[in-house]
Amino acid sequence: MFIFIGRITKEAVHEIGHTLGLGHCPDPECVMHFSNSIVDTDRKSYFFCSVCYQKVKAAIGL
Ligand SMILES: [Zn+2]
Ligand SMILES: [Zn+2]
Repeated sequence: MFIFIGRITKEAVHEIGHTLGLGHCPDPECVMHFSNSIVDTDRKSYFFCSVCYQKVKAAIGL
């Protein structure tokens, strides 16, 4: 159950990133990394890497 919650949380954050204009990220631990499989989803974190975080901040006006 916890792993399922983790997976949907990561995908939700990822899709929110797209709505803010972010593309996919080459960093395999960044939440904006494209998940080719569930293994990729489990490897990445809940967080944006520093590059994507700057884009999020710019998108929301910080
Ligand atoms: Zn995506
Ligand atoms: Zn990133």
